[in-house]
Amino acid sequence: MTERVSHEWLEVINPATGEVFARCPAAGRVELDRAVAAARDAFPAWRARSFEDRRSAIRRMAQVLRDHQAELAELLTLEQGKPLTQSRDEIMRAATQSEGMAQISIEPEVLLDDAARHIELSYFPLGVVGIITPWNAPINLAAGPLTSALYTGNTAILKPSPYTPLTTLKLGELLREVFPPGVLAVLAGGDELGEWMTGHPGVDKISFTGSVATGKKVMASAAGTLKRVTLELGGNDAAIVLDDVDPAAIAPKLFAASFVNSGQVCMAIKRIYAHERIYDALCEALAAQARKARIGSGLDPESELGPIQNQEQYRRVLGILEDTRRSGARILAGGEPPPGPGYFFPPTIVADIDEHSRLVQEEQFGPIVPVLKFRDVEDALRRANDTRYGLSGSVWSGDIERAASIAARLEVGTAWVNQHRATSATVPFGGAKESGIGRQYSVLGLKSYMEPRVISVLK
Ligand code: NAD
Repeated sequence: MTERVSHEWLEVINPATGEVFARCPAAGRVELDRAVAAARDAFPAWRARSFEDRRSAIRRMAQVLRDHQAELAELLTLEQGKPLTQSRDEIMRAATQSEGMAQISIEPEVLLDDAARHIELSYFPLGVVGIITPWNAPINLAAGPLTSALYTGNTAILKPSPYTPLTTLKLGELLREVFPPGVLAVLAGGDELGEWMTGHPGVDKISFTGSVATGKKVMASAAGTLKRVTLELGGNDAAIVLDDVDPAAIAPKLFAASFVNSGQVCMAIKRIYAHERIYDALCEALAAQARKARIGSGLDPESELGPIQNQEQYRRVLGILEDTRRSGARILAGGEPPPGPGYFFPPTIVADIDEHSRLVQEEQFGPIVPVLKFRDVEDALRRANDTRYGLSGSVWSGDIERAASIAARLEVGTAWVNQHRATSATVPFGGAKESGIGRQYSVLGLKSYMEPRVISVLK
């Protein structure tokens, strides 16, 4: 093992206390260069292995996640803040999604076979993939790109967010017994490490999950070497609730899809458009859910909602709350963050809010959600689509066909009916408009970690 040369460290804060509880090494340029060189060296042999062989390695990775679920979940809760049950779900989900993706086969396609020619389309791996992840779900959001890269024959360098590096580093350590040297490196570091990865000539693709603003920088930097990019960015998902629903019955589902991980989910519901006939009843049912939700440290088994993950995000959400108050909107539940320690913020339901306020226009990424009134479905659709975001959305109704025809007009990567936030290994996920480029999961996602190659034979 070569000595590391960077002398930088990351201090990791427990968001439930606001205190530093651990520190870990931050990689510098030298460590990145070494990891890239090792990944390039390991690439030919890894690429030469069969899909079947790499599938069994992914299965072993899934088994490692399962075997270490409790230990990884506890570390994840300590650094990320979410309740332990949600951390356990995240680890388990990473395992099942990975296994599910490695079941997909990528076969050559015969495009033409006639007397004169045989033309075939096949796919080959790109080389070294740089994977950059955010702080809201570090393991689940690493698992998709990691499996896609490694299963399709690439090698990978994974960089977690400086706010949540520990669980990913721990996973990297555990995976040393699964993948040969050089095939996977986990490097923790600050934002500058991400920048170096996106500009590095030895990296062939970047899979980035994070904010729209950073996604644009990633794309600009990747252009220097024409790296392939998959960008999974922010969202401002609308749920359109039609006049024929039972507000009491759907409120718990809407509440869960809005407030899971304290709203820090790319595809959480971030705006609820409710028909005027059920508006008041739905607002009240959502407020009742918010009032009874228990918030506290993620390590406390009673907690349903943990803190906001970091101070910067906590302050942003506070700013949005102040803007909401100033706008004259009605705060039906929550709205009074407790005094410290920790970045706790109660689930907050807002009614009668101006469409142009920050809470409606921006991605709040926190536990505060507006409920907006509509009379005419066309108007609801126009307002739902009136945004540069286009990650996902949903329509809720007793009439599935009617809801599906409205959902089909949402300008998003995924439109759900009577559900929100349902994804799976075989279904592509990603954003329209500024919510991203490309898709993760499914055969579509896997192929984006490969280059198509046509072989055309003149007979
Ligand atoms: P962020 O963009 O601030 O950071 C994400 C990662 O990028 C971190 O690892 C960070 O260190 C790195 N980074 C920062 N600057 C960089 C640069 N110039 N070049 C390369 N890398 C750089 O995002 P965040 O605040 O950690 O995460 C929250 C955002 O992520 C929200 O907008 C959320 O909606 C989005 N998100 C999207 C999805 C999706 O699948 N579409 C999933 C989860 C989160």
